[in-house]
Amino acid sequence: MSFFELQNISKSYGRAGIDRQSVLKGVGFDIAGSEALGLIGPSGSGKTTIARIALGMDRPDSGRVRFMGKTISYSRNRAKRIHFSRVQMIWQDPKVYLNPFLPIRATIMEPMAAFGMGTKKERLRKADHLMEILGLPKSSGCLKPGQLSGGQCQRVAIARALSVSPKLLICDEALVSLDLPQQVKIIKILMTMQKEMGLSLLFISHDTKIVRRLCQRILYLDQGKIKRTRVPAAANPTRY
Ligand code: ADP
Ligand code: MG
Repeated sequence: MSFFELQNISKSYGRAGIDRQSVLKGVGFDIAGSEALGLIGPSGSGKTTIARIALGMDRPDSGRVRFMGKTISYSRNRAKRIHFSRVQMIWQDPKVYLNPFLPIRATIMEPMAAFGMGTKKERLRKADHLMEILGLPKSSGCLKPGQLSGGQCQRVAIARALSVSPKLLICDEALVSLDLPQQVKIIKILMTMQKEMGLSLLFISHDTKIVRRLCQRILYLDQGKIKRTRVPAAANPTRY
């Protein structure tokens, strides 16, 4: 049984006979527990569509997504809510999707409350612990996203995603808005989480260099098809 598996996924957008566009054409791959899998491909090749389908936000036209031995459901039910807590996502630009009015400690605590995890005191403790791991000073907890740098906001987004102890973290071009030292810092944090929490990663990027440092296996997507798979030399974030 695979930990996470996309089986023969196809997806089109648009209206039949008018502007129908086939975006994914029979994509299949799996991710093992604690594995970091890279997904590389040119813009428009279907990477974000794969992320949305893996997350359960979008429904494929055909094929299925299996997670921990079960096929994920697309109806609004309990199973889907559980899927949402186990698979988390970090998007490209945190400033766009973090609530600008919510202080960052509350931002990190919000998903735990939404999934009914722990008491308020436990949620506070976990938020503070994650802020510490991600190098966000305690005093910044009451600041709002607009008062932080892009790199700090992305670390808030990562803390928020990790707060519900996901099994799989999908990062879609999550580091593009950061400078190199920030990227290295975050990659090191992700590698530590992978080891210590047994976190699996689907790391989507057009930056081959970053993916080679972080991932145990890399898939190359082109025009909605997986063209090849590579195993890079041992992952090591310090080799910049
Ligand atoms: P990538 O992330 O690799 O750049 P995407 O998965 O975002 O690629 O997009 C692949 C193709 O699918 C693009 O041509 C894009 O315009 C199209 N597409 C993505 N989402 C939608 C949507 N909701 N409606 C229509 N077309 C879409
Ligand atoms: Mg994309």
